Amino acid sequence: MLNKFELLMPGTLNEALTQYAELGSKCKILAGGTDVLVEMHGGRRYYSLLMDIKNLEELKGVEYTPRKGLAIGALTTHRCLEQMPVIKEKYPALYDGVSQVGCVQTRCRGTIGGNICNAVPSGDTLGPLLALNAHLILQSTKGIREIPFEEFFLGPKKTVLESGELLIKILIPPSVPNSSSAYTKFTRRKAMDLALLGATVSIASMDGKTCDNVRVSLTTAAPTVMRAKKTEEFLIGKELTEKMMKEAGEIASAEAKPRSSWRSTEEYRREVLKAIVPRTIAAALERVQKGVAHP
Ligand SMILES: Cc1cc2nc3c(=O)[nH]c(=O)nc-3n(C[C@H](O)[C@H](O)[C@H](O)COP(=O)(O)OP(=O)(O)OC[C@H]3O[C@@H](n4cnc5c(N)ncnc54)[C@H](O)[C@@H]3O)c2cc1C
Repeated sequence: MLNKFELLMPGTLNEALTQYAELGSKCKILAGGTDVLVEMHGGRRYYSLLMDIKNLEELKGVEYTPRKGLAIGALTTHRCLEQMPVIKEKYPALYDGVSQVGCVQTRCRGTIGGNICNAVPSGDTLGPLLALNAHLILQSTKGIREIPFEEFFLGPKKTVLESGELLIKILIPPSVPNSSSAYTKFTRRKAMDLALLGATVSIASMDGKTCDNVRVSLTTAAPTVMRAKKTEEFLIGKELTEKMMKEAGEIASAEAKPRSSWRSTEEYRREVLKAIVPRTIAAALERVQKGVAHP
């Protein structure tokens, strides 16, 4: 059962920010509600005042230009992104992420902004956004600021969002020539489930064999989504043979900070990383070779 709550439905961003500045933490932001309402329904959270932001036009829409890249409104649903050819063609790791969030019903309702602001390490868009070097536009009555995605998370369920501040947009730079990306979601069962682990690789290779540039991120492998910087350093300049990819998996497994939980032990998670990191490098490289995500 849901507890009783008051609902605010501002019609413009200005109205929303003014109300949110006054109310601060007394008020819970509601986008698609697939996290907030589920938590309330399960009795895990009690909110007496919700602000539904679904009417804010300023948080809607997706724009792509080859020069500037992608700008995604925070209210964009996973389903909308999944169905946009530009996402699949230019940002395939993000396509891999959004298309694996829950079921179609969840993806029709859940927003990318909600996935980010919910700030759990298993969020399926987080690894792709980190590996694709996303930036976030945040706004409050005090002004607008842009921050790199990797500076957004402070811990599980903790972000740098200040009181009265909303996530407005997600920016992703244009894909460079001879580059591509992939996200692997590892779950315990072949059914709707959260990522037990995830790996994202965004790679550039002029000859389709050597790694010229790379970003690697790991999902559910630490308290927040993390970049695997030692793995990246190891890969740059190397020919991506099976042996190299296997070694990269071992480095990623060693630099990850997974914990044991009821879902799996730390040791098991480290073993899985050794398998999914090479698999994800291979998938991204294969896409470079096939020309997916060429501008
Ligand atoms: C059945 C089911 C299956 C699911 N499976 C998956 C899965 O496989 N993978 C996965 O990653 N997630 C999954 N989820 C979780 C959820 O669907 C996603 O996290 C979704 O993207 C949340 O978006 P939302 O718009 O519904 O967020 P909401 O529930 O509306 O909000 C989530 C959080 O973000 C805050 N928030 C939302 N928008 C903003 C904003 N613009 N500015 C500031 N704060 C904001 C809210 O206050 C809240 O704290 C699942 C959920 C369900 C119910």
